[in-house]
Amino acid sequence: MLKLKNIVKDYKVDDRLFRALNNVNIEMNQGEFVAILGPSGCGKTTLLNIIGGLDQYTAGDLFINGVSTKDFKEKDWNAYRNHSIGFVFQSYNLINHLSVLDNVELGMTLSGIAPEDRKKRALEVLDKVGLSSHIDKRPTKLSGGEKQRVAIARALVNNPDIILADEPTGALDSETAREILSLIQEVGKDKLVIMVTHAKMYADEFASRTIELKDGEVIRETSKSEIITTHREYNPTHTSMSFLTALKLSFNNLKTKKLRTIITALAASVGIIGIGLVLSISNGFRAQISDIESDQLVNLPILIGREEMQVGFERAGATTYVPEEYEENEIVIYDPSEDVHINQLSTVFIEHLESMDEDIFTKIHYEFGYVPTILTERDGTVEMMDLSKVGFSPFIVPKETISDYYTLKAGKMPETSTEVVLLMDQWNVVEQEIIEALGYDASQTLYYEDVLGKELFIALNDDLYLKQGEIYIPNYNNLDIVASEGVTVTIVGLIEASDAGVEYNNSGVKYLYELKEDLLLVNSQSDICTLQESQNQSVFDLVNLTETEKEQLLSYIGCNTTDPFLIQIYTDSVEHKEAIKEHIAIYNEDQPIEDKVFETDLAEAIGDTLSTLITSISVVLTAFASISLVVSSIMIGVIIYISVLERTKEIGIIRSLGGSKRDIGRVFNAESIIIGTFAGLLGILITYVLTFPINSIAVNYDDALANVAQVNVLHLVGLVVISGLLTFIGGLIPSRIAAKKDPVEALRVE
Ligand code: ADP
Ligand code: MG
Repeated sequence: MLKLKNIVKDYKVDDRLFRALNNVNIEMNQGEFVAILGPSGCGKTTLLNIIGGLDQYTAGDLFINGVSTKDFKEKDWNAYRNHSIGFVFQSYNLINHLSVLDNVELGMTLSGIAPEDRKKRALEVLDKVGLSSHIDKRPTKLSGGEKQRVAIARALVNNPDIILADEPTGALDSETAREILSLIQEVGKDKLVIMVTHAKMYADEFASRTIELKDGEVIRETSKSEIITTHREYNPTHTSMSFLTALKLSFNNLKTKKLRTIITALAASVGIIGIGLVLSISNGFRAQISDIESDQLVNLPILIGREEMQVGFERAGATTYVPEEYEENEIVIYDPSEDVHINQLSTVFIEHLESMDEDIFTKIHYEFGYVPTILTERDGTVEMMDLSKVGFSPFIVPKETISDYYTLKAGKMPETSTEVVLLMDQWNVVEQEIIEALGYDASQTLYYEDVLGKELFIALNDDLYLKQGEIYIPNYNNLDIVASEGVTVTIVGLIEASDAGVEYNNSGVKYLYELKEDLLLVNSQSDICTLQESQNQSVFDLVNLTETEKEQLLSYIGCNTTDPFLIQIYTDSVEHKEAIKEHIAIYNEDQPIEDKVFETDLAEAIGDTLSTLITSISVVLTAFASISLVVSSIMIGVIIYISVLERTKEIGIIRSLGGSKRDIGRVFNAESIIIGTFAGLLGILITYVLTFPINSIAVNYDDALANVAQVNVLHLVGLVVISGLLTFIGGLIPSRIAAKKDPVEALRVE
């Protein structure tokens, strides 16, 4: 069944060829127990390795069941070793980090036998060699004889035709040696057993035939037993180790190096922690922004101004103009007004806006550019307030939500259009100019009660502007009369902005938008308005006005109630805001570009700006953290390489059991993936734990930072995957090195 024909083996030693086997011709049969004898270095192991397919012959041919192995490929040899050969070595060659049972099963995992069958068969052979009670032990806990029994069980388990034993008793005392030899004899009854031994005594006692080698040649051979030509079909299945087996092997191996594995994983997790923290902080910020957008900024109106920078067109959002083409010596002339889109806030558009579903908005305000004239009393005389100093501005949030954004310090919140409040900061500070403009003596101490109830007067056009001949003249000489005829507003409360998002002033007088609406209603009916509308000259000095100038003047004195320069649409939720935008988009659908109306969503703009900022900061920080990931990968590569050196013997064992190069690569890839995944898990765990101190430190700086670090499960899963992947890449080179190791060399390593 086994035939060696003119087998030659040459080793290359320092450019010279050394012939270890020279024209060896042997024929061996099933049922034989062949002992190979000879002095050390004569080529016994080489012969055995060639028969076992661990080493390849240089010339000649080896026949198995009549099949020539000349054209055997790598995978044919692997299948041959796995299927037809069982190796027993002098130094046992067991994998110490696997149990006895797992050691025996290993060869079967390579040939893809189902786990239950594997276990059953392994238990059977272990019983046969008398080790049933040791199956869960590690080989290190066994005596030499027991170890060799495990090795014999492993050699038997795939039911090979040939058992190759290389000095199986070399390390055993003579009593144990005899036991082992009779075991081999017993289990090898119907097989071909080829055993190398240096002890002729054992050969004589157990072998049915001896072959003596010297200097690579057969020098003596006892007669072969009767040739039984059982031509069994030689057709073994190809082997492959499942990734699960590779994982188990590497996992068990790592378990024996716990401390090192933990330290490695810790070091490898640094990058993951870095990225994890950056992500969770940007995540926390983003959550906060969207909170602010939906809770606090939602009451900021959608603005539709008459002039909008053109967005979404040829030069989208351009602040610097880049010409499409120009000559080298050309001076490019640019008119920035080209990039400004004029929103046509026509009556058609306003009608469309007003037709909006009432549920989606709370109020629409129209701003006409009217600047009221406000009067105050100082020491009994009425004077005009300097509006450039007072900060007399409307609330931009609706009346009903004022309390959400402002805190009342004294008095009450405004409820009607004639009630106003004084805004100050959290330390009660109000600018001196404002106090003076309101009519107070700033050198005196001012208390809440001095201000509460203070009355201001808003002049009406018909009282303020008196006609003298062709022109109107402001009645500045009788301001007390103007005041008493005008609208009286009262400071009813003192407030502080509790939310910086809606208030740009530190101090000043705040009024309800309704005040302006009421004033416009009256003033637009005034005589001065009627006259100004009817003529193109200024009612004040008869100077000719352009169309724009006339419009501006009309707006300024409060005559314009139909042609707003700004529309503010208020609503109460982000969804409604979207619905409003949708409504505007419907209008735009049918309009040519110049008639389209573009809105500005301040809340979204603030949110977007912050998001963009956070995104760019995160990208930069992630890039930095990634450097440590790269370092980790390299480190893993080194660690895996060390592991390859440590596990060289294991490589040889797996190869001798029929494992392919790919299987070996797989074992080490599994090791790097385990370390990487472990590092990733450790990294995200540490990241998660770190968010707690980060949040509690952050909250000391600002309450708004309470949840600044928030982990996102998806990010965490992604990080573990990335960690596994990167370390896998880092381990690729060492696992390739492992795969390429020569099995014979690998087995020789101690
Ligand atoms: P033994 O009969 O003691 O088992 P071996 O078969 O191991 O002898 O070795 C036979 C000869 O081949 C020895 O001289 C040994 O030094 C040499 N040899 C074995 N393996 C190699 C190798 N990989 N490279 C070079 N020489 C080798
Ligand atoms: Mg030897």
